[in-house]
Amino acid sequence: MKDFQFHTPGTTIFRPGSSFDLITYKNLNISGRILLVTDNTLNKLGIAGKVKEAIQNAGADVVLFDKVEPEPTVETVRILVEIARKENIKSVIGLGGGSPMDVAKIVALIVPCPQPIESLYGVGNAIGERLPLILIPTTAGTGSEATPVAVVTGDDGEKSPIVGPQFICDSIILDAELTLGLPPKITAATGVDAMVHAIEAYTSSVRKNIVSDRLAINAIQFLHESIKIAVKQGDNIEARSKMLLGSMMAGLAFANSTVGAVHALAYPLGTNFHLSHGESNAMVLTPVMRFNLSHASSFYADLSRLIIPEAVNQSDQDASELLINEISELIPEVGLKNRLSEFGIVENDLDQLTDGTLNQARLLSYNIKEMSRNDIYNVFKAVL
Ligand code: NAD
Repeated sequence: MKDFQFHTPGTTIFRPGSSFDLITYKNLNISGRILLVTDNTLNKLGIAGKVKEAIQNAGADVVLFDKVEPEPTVETVRILVEIARKENIKSVIGLGGGSPMDVAKIVALIVPCPQPIESLYGVGNAIGERLPLILIPTTAGTGSEATPVAVVTGDDGEKSPIVGPQFICDSIILDAELTLGLPPKITAATGVDAMVHAIEAYTSSVRKNIVSDRLAINAIQFLHESIKIAVKQGDNIEARSKMLLGSMMAGLAFANSTVGAVHALAYPLGTNFHLSHGESNAMVLTPVMRFNLSHASSFYADLSRLIIPEAVNQSDQDASELLINEISELIPEVGLKNRLSEFGIVENDLDQLTDGTLNQARLLSYNIKEMSRNDIYNVFKAVL
């Protein structure tokens, strides 16, 4: 069996209603002055207020910051670091989708260990120890609660992932009740993002291991069986719970394996054309799978046989085709667009998208099949 290392957050609490319950925070031993990082929507919905109240009831002081924007910028992080220092913050809680959770991670690191954010971009550049950190996802998508990754948009407008062991949090609260009101379009986009994490973790060319494989397999099963239900019946707590668990498991899988070309091609769609992270991933997922097929068919076939009964007795090639077709049909069925032109993108934009993808050299290097400039251009062209 292949050697591997596996990194996990400390405690995970999985229970509907747990984020509004003071017992949760007492059990996690929170105390002192806490920064609750969230966004404006979650504040307006009353979710942030109820979490704040539960934390206060457990005996801690809370400073609430609700100004994190989707696909957050480094400027937001800088502002928040200043606030946290002024407020003498001792612990950080990120409440939201990937955007607030990623900002919470970086702030928790930089407040006690001053360092320019730009010096952190890439892998393993962060120094020092962060403040205690709890993450509470409200989308079932990024899996950020389980990963050593934080993504910000840099001053140059490029998506700039930061990867470091400090970003693996102390505790995760998985409360499916928080996701009951997630609108169908965000449920779909974030849910496909989680499916991409499971698929890319399972097919990575580096670091994939027996435990990340098992997590990816269970994640794809949970996500596939519940995504359509969660989109159509938002208040179905069973489907929401499976989505949240699947998303966390997919996050843990890719945290201990990698993601690859789907993410590399998705990033410039977000930064240049403002598609959400999930929409971008959904756009390029199946064309990248088709491109990878010659190198990944045994892996795709494994996943296919788990979720598509007819795939069980098929060859690897045929089972893989069934999986790609299943996902191609699922994307519009859950209400997501699958053509770049639907976002106003035209052929003249493809060079810019291709150059933006080439800037994500690290992610491309993890892809199971090498991608040339021409290959990238052709994948975008296939979904124009
Ligand atoms: P998001 O956090 O940007 O949220 C998207 C929208 O959903 C926002 O408008 C938000 O207010 C709304 N929303 C969130 N929860 C809600 C709820 N319960 N009810 C109603 N509305 C709700 O989206 P996301 O897709 O979760 O995160 C995207 C970010 O995460 C991107 O910046 C991406 O690059 C990053 N990311 C990080 C990792 C990681 O490992 N750290 C992995 C993948 C992606």
